[in-house]
Amino acid sequence: MVFEIVCPKCGEVVYSGSELKPLGKVLKEYDYSCPKCGVKLSSEDFEIEIVEG
Ligand SMILES: [Zn+2]
Repeated sequence: MVFEIVCPKCGEVVYSGSELKPLGKVLKEYDYSCPKCGVKLSSEDFEIEIVEG
């Protein structure tokens, strides 16, 4: 099982891994902005996708 945190604006996969991290912790590592499009991100905006397999 793989967890993905995807930018709601551009679709960039900000985090992907088998370990489900706290969303706030992941966003803090990226200074609360998308590394690709630079949009400001809050935890409410984000979707976490869980990919089976
Ligand atoms: Zn983005």
